[in-house]
Amino acid sequence: MSKLAIVSNRLPPRPDQAGARAQEVGGLVPALLSALEMSGGGLWLGWSGRAAPEHGAPLTWEMNGSRVVGIDLNEREVDLYYNGFCNRAVWPLMHSFQGRVRLSRQEERAYAQVNARFARRLAEYLSGGETVWVHDYHLFLLGRELRRLGHQGRIGFFLHTPFPAHDTWQILPQPEEFLEAMLDYDLAGFHTRTYRDNYVYAAERLIGASWDGSCLSASGRRQRVGIFPIGVDPARFRGPSREMGGGGRRHRSLWEEAGGCQVILGVDRLDYTKGIPNRILAFESLLRSHPQWRGKASLYQICAPSRTRVTEYMEQKRTVDALVGRVNGEYAEHNWVPVRYLYRSYPQARLAQFYREAHVCLVTPLRDGMNLVAKEFVAAQDPEKPGALVLSRFTGASEELRDAILVNPYHPEDVADGIQRALTMSLEERIARHRKLAACVERHSSRWWFESFLAELASTRK
Ligand code: UDP
Repeated sequence: MSKLAIVSNRLPPRPDQAGARAQEVGGLVPALLSALEMSGGGLWLGWSGRAAPEHGAPLTWEMNGSRVVGIDLNEREVDLYYNGFCNRAVWPLMHSFQGRVRLSRQEERAYAQVNARFARRLAEYLSGGETVWVHDYHLFLLGRELRRLGHQGRIGFFLHTPFPAHDTWQILPQPEEFLEAMLDYDLAGFHTRTYRDNYVYAAERLIGASWDGSCLSASGRRQRVGIFPIGVDPARFRGPSREMGGGGRRHRSLWEEAGGCQVILGVDRLDYTKGIPNRILAFESLLRSHPQWRGKASLYQICAPSRTRVTEYMEQKRTVDALVGRVNGEYAEHNWVPVRYLYRSYPQARLAQFYREAHVCLVTPLRDGMNLVAKEFVAAQDPEKPGALVLSRFTGASEELRDAILVNPYHPEDVADGIQRALTMSLEERIARHRKLAACVERHSSRWWFESFLAELASTRK
């Protein structure tokens, strides 16, 4: 395997930040570090996370034998590239939230400039033959820039979000140019067949590409396109380990905290794509339609703060705060709180414990590229006494986890029925469903994901 260089917007935490940022880190960082380790120690380049007045020398640090290179953005770039084009235009567009897309020429230019600058910085560390793996919607144009700088090695791209229908894609200011640029990647990877098909169809319709079932061809270039559903490392979530993440202190279980109520758990970044207000309304609908659960079931909703400087995210927080207040005000009793809302993030070891203690996990995004929480919940369950998973049809995970209780997150009564089903499901049925879900989570682990992507990339043209 040739040396590997990974490029992504965000980086693993610096050693001096490990405590502060550990809670932000999902399972992706360990998976990509293992990929670098397998390539014999490579390079990982991205944004340092800092806004600096000048473009100085990059910050570099070592991690598991690989070099991490953090590039500073200036205030203007953070505002225009990151908060602007990435988070206010591309993110809502990829998730088919057309109404939330905000476009501006200045932000579009900043996006192209940052992609070009990342490519120039990366090229300084490459000798020409390395394999480069680019991640996500922040960096659609990086491959093209790297080719312009003469990079001959293979370049792969993985999209962590959905790819929308081709008419939605055309909301981008230059939909054709982006698709043309993406063809400079030798392999483009997606989580699901739906996203891959959307991408292929957009390329056929908008830039006249032809598709032979595994490769796209256009403008003298040929690109392999594949489906690689990302997974988790199930061993990280398996129990039981009551002390994990608590410095040896035994935590009172959620069940104990809830005074013996059934625990329904939601774990999300506070993002409008996650459908948290809809979820709270669905829980309220359950309390209305099935009043026997009043005093007997509580929704624990963990909301990890996210993109807190973007207006839409501040608004979303206000909406959730108000809704939790209203529902609790209306239904709470002196000895029962319907919605326990935790606006903070937890280390994964603590989440693993929450997953095991929950009776039901409620994963109801309006749209989600994959949703790892669903897979983590499955991995954490006791196979002899598993909880039940209620899962939105609009997550990438639902294309694999067919044995979850699939619901329509836009329809509060449908979600309420799903919760009711989960709360009343026999142990026998829960075990049978969990067995199939767990097999799927084990099969498509994070290791399987990066190994199969890199193997496919290695088999593309030199
Ligand atoms: N996560 C975490 N602490 C929290 C909340 C979430 O470590 O308090 C992790 C969670 O374990 C998962 C990731 O963040 O690995 C969220 O991934 P998901 O695919 O569900 O959603 P995303 O945030 O990537 O849209």
